[in-house]
Amino acid sequence: MAEVVVENFIGGKFLSTEKYLDSYDPSTGVVWAKIPDSSELEVDQAVQAARQAFPGWSRTSVEERSRLMQHLADILESQQEEFAQAESRDQGKPVSLATRIDIPRMIYNFRFFSTVILHSTNSSTYLDKAEAINYTTTAPIGVAGLISPWNLPLYLLTFKIAPCIAFGNTCVCKPSEMTSVTAWMLSKAVVQAGIPPGVINVVFGVGPRAGQALVQHPHVPLISFTGGTATAQHIIKTSAPHCKKLSLELGGKNPSVVFDDADFENCVKTCVRSSFTNQGEICLCTSRIFVQDTIFQKFVDRFVQETRKLKVGAPKESDTNMGALISKEHLHKVKGYVAIAVQDGGLLLCGEGKESLDLKKENENGYFMRPTVIINVPDDSRSMQEEIFGPVTCINSFKSEEEAVQRANNVKFGLAACLWTSDVSRAHRVGHKLEAGTVWTNCWLVRDLNMPFGGTKSSGIGREGAKYSKEFYTEEKTICIKI
Ligand code: NAD
Repeated sequence: MAEVVVENFIGGKFLSTEKYLDSYDPSTGVVWAKIPDSSELEVDQAVQAARQAFPGWSRTSVEERSRLMQHLADILESQQEEFAQAESRDQGKPVSLATRIDIPRMIYNFRFFSTVILHSTNSSTYLDKAEAINYTTTAPIGVAGLISPWNLPLYLLTFKIAPCIAFGNTCVCKPSEMTSVTAWMLSKAVVQAGIPPGVINVVFGVGPRAGQALVQHPHVPLISFTGGTATAQHIIKTSAPHCKKLSLELGGKNPSVVFDDADFENCVKTCVRSSFTNQGEICLCTSRIFVQDTIFQKFVDRFVQETRKLKVGAPKESDTNMGALISKEHLHKVKGYVAIAVQDGGLLLCGEGKESLDLKKENENGYFMRPTVIINVPDDSRSMQEEIFGPVTCINSFKSEEEAVQRANNVKFGLAACLWTSDVSRAHRVGHKLEAGTVWTNCWLVRDLNMPFGGTKSSGIGREGAKYSKEFYTEEKTICIKI
């Protein structure tokens, strides 16, 4: 018996559907929720509700929109514990991680964008020769389709909802079918906060049915999607007939480049964290580490030592570092990449196939795996080229700066990179050459939402963050006045 039955949230009402899908607790392998298997019909109802709400919401003053979003953030703040528990049950991550990262960021997304709109200005120019003034006006666009993945369910969904509604649009959200419960809880908070019916609608179901219906709906002019690169390619094709505005945040194969003048201890500990946080299921996780040959062995030894300390197990226990992977199929896929790396000549040092798990009885059917470290995998191996999206890191050595940059860039992705050095000039030089939307030097996952976020190459199209989200969620027009 499922513990939770999720309902669609359309026009301010909670509605059941004809068909439901099972949603599993990854830490036990047991169905814990039933979620609507929505079709074109429900998506269309949600789009109509969002269209109806748009004129009123887009004319609501920025002060009032901001106030409502702050009120929503207050409500979410008072329910942090319930959200963290549910996020962990849905996704398999440790409750402590959801408490530390996912839930505070969900709240911050609403707080941040609710204040951005209060200080947002447009540009103007004075053309002295033509004696004319140009200025721009911005207006919300309409109904946005917001499609999100399972790895940071609320963190990412609210990074779309918050700017979307702040700038005066309404939306239809389609969260991942694997992690739907917390978006349903969020919908209840939306009602409590007094956000008008139809401004935020949430339709649950699988990508090829509910997600696709949203992508192809003629009255949804913009789609903000976070997920896999292959899905994005399909979305580009199928949305093309409507010339939709697209924001695509996609996969990564993120390198970390370690020079021998790096702050060694901080570097090792942060690289372990950047490789295995959230079971390695963050698009920004490090999956390839290139270490200068002079410290390669020392780095590998310390890295493995630190990795072995990570406790894999029940997400609800406070000392658990890594929970379960999202699904049985995903676990199988990730293990498959370990096998490929070894077949291709890599040397397995710890983790999958080396050490066994020590799980409680209730977690024996969960989708757990130990953090895995492999060295000397050839750069052209599929495990070095494709996104694994799990707790697997490959470490290789390099001799020169030029070689390090060339090999770090030698993938189709360009989402994020880390750089470890105490040489300031090198930090600027290499940081500039690394092909990634974000380069962290001597740190990882430090974010300022004012700055652009997004991938290069196959990791995405478009940028998110204060003014970048404004560019996406509004349409700008130039007014020219002769004086
Ligand atoms: P996915 O592409 O399988 O699914 C993402 C979402 O798209 C889900 O809601 C899914 O139901 C929906 N979807 C699937 N097919 C669809 C279709 N034909 N039309 C419309 N919607 C469809 O990705 P996932 O497995 O949920 O997430 C993992 C991926 O997300 C990884 O590649 C990861 O790197 C990426 N990701 C990127 C970022 C980023 O900011 N760049 C952040 C998190 C995750």
